[in-house]
Amino acid sequence: QTSVIAYCRPGYENDAANELTTRYGEVSIYGYPVSKKNSGFVLYHLYDAQQLSNAIAEFAVRDTIFPRQLIAAFATLANIEKEDRVGQILECLKDVEKPLSIFGAIDIEYPDTEEGKTLAKFCKKFTVPMRQALRKAGWLTAKENTGKAKIHIFFESFETCHIGYSLPTHASKDHLGICRLKFPSDSPSRSTLKLEDALVNMLSSQEQTKVLRSGGRAVDLGACPGGWTYQLVKRGMYVEAIDNGLVADSLMQTGLVEHHAADGFTYKPQFGRVDLLVCDMIEQPDRVAKLMGDWLVKHWATHAIFNLKLPMKRRFETVEDAVALLKTRLHALEDAFSVKVRHLYHDRDEVTVTIIRTSKHEV
Ligand code: SAM
Repeated sequence: QTSVIAYCRPGYENDAANELTTRYGEVSIYGYPVSKKNSGFVLYHLYDAQQLSNAIAEFAVRDTIFPRQLIAAFATLANIEKEDRVGQILECLKDVEKPLSIFGAIDIEYPDTEEGKTLAKFCKKFTVPMRQALRKAGWLTAKENTGKAKIHIFFESFETCHIGYSLPTHASKDHLGICRLKFPSDSPSRSTLKLEDALVNMLSSQEQTKVLRSGGRAVDLGACPGGWTYQLVKRGMYVEAIDNGLVADSLMQTGLVEHHAADGFTYKPQFGRVDLLVCDMIEQPDRVAKLMGDWLVKHWATHAIFNLKLPMKRRFETVEDAVALLKTRLHALEDAFSVKVRHLYHDRDEVTVTIIRTSKHEV
């Protein structure tokens, strides 16, 4: 049996499972998801084991919503004994058909849960002997080669591990699929990390240059106390910060921020147009998506980055519906848009959407 493993935020297993079932169903890669609540991962078992290489090549992690990483798992080892785990894994690999001729790197991983963390130290220590053994057995290149597929050994517990691989063009480059950012101590709120995560991980470097121009203009709806505005000011942008609350003094003193105590749903940009609209208001996802669409359609904003707060149930469907409606509206326009939706590591019960405008001839 083969499966695609998706790592996700604990509590989001059903959402990741729904997403995989939908996306793979669309391309006739049939299977069924298996997951435990709060385990931090989902297995999508394929009915046809031979479809594994197609499944892992079908879409990249960055083009999905809930998965932090996607692994093509071709072997599972249960009842692992404490002594000589390397030997047991090698023995298991002898019985499987090698999915690719050789791998370029290795990562030993565990779920992002309290229980998973008890495996962290072991996994780190285990990496060196496992790497050496796989090199000797001809599974790994003698020198690390990040241009080739990476082998992942995912310990869901000390007794059970899954062995699989990821593709360099499709995978997250981060260990566990997690990009940890350092909290800037001069930011007025921890929320700042959500926007930074989006800017760094959802926009290409070209897009970052285009969207975050020093001297450019932005509007931040629901700005207080100013963590998102902080990210924009740090990059030299002028920000209209909209919120009935107060914006941190440190930001006001930069001279780049104009605060308006107004309703984000009726506010209009001071000079008719801005480069970037950001929004972190706690509101229904369909209301926020509609508002973002209005700004983009009316050309009040060239690009938009916003969070959709998720309901407790049917989260995948809620996001899909809200974004599909928005995409339909954008599709009717002259311009083309790159739309991405991600449940980022720094997001909690919310997803981040980035919409970057490109003129049609650019695409
Ligand atoms: N992004 C902010 C940061 O990094 O500091 C945190 C934003 S907080 C999650 C949500 C904010 O949205 C609150 O300050 C709230 O006052 C504001 N808000 C909610 N509804 C609003 C509305 N209709 N108009 C303007 N602001 C609103």
